[in-house]
Amino acid sequence: MKLIFLGPPGAGKGTQAEKVSEHYGIAHISTGEMLRREIREETPLGKAAKGYIDRGELVPDEVIIGMVKNRIQEADCSQGYLFDGFPRTIAQADALAAISPIDMVINIDVPAERLIERISGRRMCTGCGTGYHASMYDKDACEKCGSPLFIRDDDKPETVRNRIAVYERQTQPLITYYEAKGLLKTVDGDRTPEAVRADILALTEKLV
Ligand code: ADP
Ligand code: ZN
Repeated sequence: MKLIFLGPPGAGKGTQAEKVSEHYGIAHISTGEMLRREIREETPLGKAAKGYIDRGELVPDEVIIGMVKNRIQEADCSQGYLFDGFPRTIAQADALAAISPIDMVINIDVPAERLIERISGRRMCTGCGTGYHASMYDKDACEKCGSPLFIRDDDKPETVRNRIAVYERQTQPLITYYEAKGLLKTVDGDRTPEAVRADILALTEKLV
């Protein structure tokens, strides 16, 4: 099974992707998480990407496409994969079409005015990268590894506004792109995580 989760920053793609990929035993490929790991490990790629991310801009397509090409060849991708945060531009979607078929694109729809409040509650583990939401988890250390939690630099309000604008300009056109290919399904993301997940599983169950 090969899926794409589409949606604005703060739509809940990461939360849903973690559970859905686990449910089907497929790889969860978050390009944002891959980039943050490169930054934590201070690799050349991480150093090159950091400025873009902190400004709320997109990392150049060539970098992302190269990273994804390598990633889908890893062993855990043999049963399929779920892209979370990729593709984000038409150029990325065209590059993906040349290297992999896709079974379904799930668009997680959340009204723009809800996004800032959602993102402002996000906390992330400095050690392992696990994400939390202040409304559901109020401790200041990670329950998996004990490292302190922090607010991502790109989750600061000024940057979030830019990320939403970048989404509307560069990523939202993918909705029509995948609609035209007959691959798009939209779920209402403005509900509890469990309700959203139930809809996603009902749609994807047919692909097994
Ligand atoms: P969110 O979904 O909350 O916006 P992500 O973790 O997916 O956050 O991405 C964080 C940042 O990483 C983006 O703002 C962007 O700078 C960079 N990034 C992640 N994925 C891509 C991609 N496919 N193309 C370009 N930049 C990306
Ligand atoms: Zn942790």
